[in-house]
Amino acid sequence: MIHRASSHSGMGRRQFLQTVLSGAALGAATQAGIELASPRTLHAQTGLSPDEALHELLAGNQRFAADRLTSITHDLNIMKERTVNKQEPFAAVLTCADSRIPVELVFDQTIGHLFVTRVAGNVVTPEIVASLEFGVAVLGIKTLLVIGHSNCGAVKAAMTTDTVPGQISVLYQRIYPAIEKSGGNLDKAIQANAKIQAELLRASSTVIRETTKAGKLRVESAVYDLATGKVSLI
Ligand SMILES: [Zn+2]
Repeated sequence: MIHRASSHSGMGRRQFLQTVLSGAALGAATQAGIELASPRTLHAQTGLSPDEALHELLAGNQRFAADRLTSITHDLNIMKERTVNKQEPFAAVLTCADSRIPVELVFDQTIGHLFVTRVAGNVVTPEIVASLEFGVAVLGIKTLLVIGHSNCGAVKAAMTTDTVPGQISVLYQRIYPAIEKSGGNLDKAIQANAKIQAELLRASSTVIRETTKAGKLRVESAVYDLATGKVSLI
């Protein structure tokens, strides 16, 4: 995977994209009389600045919240074909494993656009850091959003002292710092947790910190409201 990405960068990302877009997928689509979902979208997303990438995410969320999705009009077969040999996501997300956060839908995105890491309580672990560093250093993502959500069961459970089965409580130690700042309020704990995890990413990853410092990455935290479908930056 890393080798493949390297060879792309050697070829030049723009040139590579042009090759892909003028290749089999485009030819097949044109022959079939299908209008490509948005060849410009793939082109455009690689050239986004960190601010533009964040804006693209939030704009997509506004469309989702307003029930005006555009990504569902993309031909998924074409999108799959285009991304078989490479991926160029413009944004990375760390969010909770909760089933009520369908990430691509929430941001009105499709195949190949988002690099998503998930773990209950959206906490930062060494494996999460490693995955996101791959997104930043190898894939060149432009923005990274840590997203907590309303009514998060992991944060709620960490706030109680109930005994839980198996290894569930392993998560708690990573959520406790947020609970300490919450004054016993669940919403405040959820917000604080997203913010703390984003800060942890900056602090624990030299890749993320340096890329941010160089102006090539924007790291933010946010909360997703299950009721409205809206993502709000913290
Ligand atoms: Zn959750």
